[in-house]
Amino acid sequence: MTTENFETFSELGLSENILKALNEMGFEKPSPIQAQGIPAVMQGSDVIGQAQTGTGKTAAFGIPVLERIDITSNAVQALVLCPTRELAVQVSEEIGRLAKYQRGLKIEAIYGGDSIDRQIRSLKKGVHIVVGTPGRVMDHMERKTLKFDEVRMMVLDEADEMLDMGFREDIESILADMPEDRQTILFSATMSKPIMSITKRFLNDPILIKVVRNELTNQNIEQVYFEVKPQAKVEVMTRLIDMYHLKSLLVFCNTKRKVDEIVEDLQLRGYASEGIHGDLRQQQRSNVMSKFKAGVTTILVATDVAARGIDVSGLDGVINYDIPLDEEYYVHRIGRTGRAGMSGKAFSLVARDEKYRLKSIEGYTKVKIEKGVIPSYEDIVGVRKARFVESISNSIKEGDDLNLYNDVLEMLHHSGFSTEQVVAALAKQIMGVQKNEYADSNLAWEERRSDRDGRREGSGDRFDRRSSGSRFERSGDRRENDRYAPSSRRSEGGRDGDSRRSGTPEAGMTRLFLSLGRKDHILPKDIVGAIAGEANIPGKTIGAIDIYDKFTFVDVPERDARAVLRAMDGNTIKGKPVQIDIAKQ
Ligand code: ADP
Ligand code: MG
Repeated sequence: MTTENFETFSELGLSENILKALNEMGFEKPSPIQAQGIPAVMQGSDVIGQAQTGTGKTAAFGIPVLERIDITSNAVQALVLCPTRELAVQVSEEIGRLAKYQRGLKIEAIYGGDSIDRQIRSLKKGVHIVVGTPGRVMDHMERKTLKFDEVRMMVLDEADEMLDMGFREDIESILADMPEDRQTILFSATMSKPIMSITKRFLNDPILIKVVRNELTNQNIEQVYFEVKPQAKVEVMTRLIDMYHLKSLLVFCNTKRKVDEIVEDLQLRGYASEGIHGDLRQQQRSNVMSKFKAGVTTILVATDVAARGIDVSGLDGVINYDIPLDEEYYVHRIGRTGRAGMSGKAFSLVARDEKYRLKSIEGYTKVKIEKGVIPSYEDIVGVRKARFVESISNSIKEGDDLNLYNDVLEMLHHSGFSTEQVVAALAKQIMGVQKNEYADSNLAWEERRSDRDGRREGSGDRFDRRSSGSRFERSGDRRENDRYAPSSRRSEGGRDGDSRRSGTPEAGMTRLFLSLGRKDHILPKDIVGAIAGEANIPGKTIGAIDIYDKFTFVDVPERDARAVLRAMDGNTIKGKPVQIDIAKQ
């Protein structure tokens, strides 16, 4: 088979009709899973595709399915199984868009909750592609209202989700009933044992296509973490939402119960939020999702599993209310924002005992997650006021029917109030009351921290040295062992929120990832010595060095990065072999 990376859809040898539809849909180039998956499926092999949510898996199987349908026949030729009604509808709509110029091609979504009689009527008229949930497909099979003798392609979409939802038996009996010589395609975000066993039983010498995760973390996502006391997490979250004006956002947490708690807490504070987790019935899920998509709800709180089955993109941000137990989940979570060239924010709220999990995520993704400064109460009131002023001036400028309200002020004056009082009262009503349940100093778990410039002292230091990074600033006149926040933040910790500019080293510097860390007893001077000596660059040009347990980030001047990589890769520091790489941002 071919594993080349195709740059354009036309290189994939697709028909004109599909190319035209793709063009209209605004798809410029195939995503990685499409570039590799489409040729594999088109050549007729069984295929296992593993890629995260939102990577374009639908078109990866949808296009080849469309290419292989014989329109002159009236029989069902492809069956796609999806975990939920919502996904079945989405997938059939996406395939419908792809099929826009294939006249006469019929696609039907069948799922529980919809009238079975209506479905039977449309199926009778002849359908080429059926997209359905396993339960309802079984139903039709038993009633013999669906015939699969002519099925040539069978797709299991979001297979892991279907298994999580308990569809295993249904899937197996559907598969067992399909014609022997069909082609079987399975897509999943993760590969678990039960999935492997299904593929062993029902797939024939499959081609495995796995899109590596790093392509996906490499997006315009600002990753920042905040050290927060567990009981202050909702407070900090609302501050971040206000500060960064997040208008569509997914909040992730590890348990169903937490979902409910967070939603309640947010609603009490006046934030339009709803939760989604496995205990919701299909109807409730759809309800929640349509409100979110319509923008009525701005915050969706979800568990990892529940979120996997939903399709939302173009989010302003993702908040990790807690740190996931699995590094891969982190990648899935933050991949929900920053899509399609847009920037997104990924904020992680880290309790003291979660810090080590954050570190292992950094090790896994090779991306440095910057530490952020929690916005202060004053910051929040400040941005709220600024937005209020802006919206009032916009109203005045647009000014169509303000005349209607001209006499309101006069009426209030008559009651003895000054203009200032009136405006202040209005502002309070409109902006909402900003609760300040926690003093600014009581949000972070790092007790004594001379907050703003990020410099730490006292008790926080002990913990930090043990389990988080030690940062050494090497440029300028700083003593080598002084520890600072990144200099981009140090310059001005003010409310412009500079601290969130994360993941990027200072201008002109390149951040490198080294496979040695504290457990290797590496000190900053060892690193400086090795790099300066081997790559022959002045030690003082080496920037920040962040040493973690198992790895280290070090900033070097951009122009020297190549030389350092060449000189150091496979070399040793303090006698220990080191691998060095450009850190992912
Ligand atoms: P997955 O099934 O992997 O979660 P989808 O197939 O639902 O992902 O695709 C996610 C979104 O990306 C959809 O809105 C889809 O229309 C869009 N999309 C898919 N492929 C491309 C592409 N090549 N270029 C641009 N957008 C795409
Ligand atoms: Mg999908």
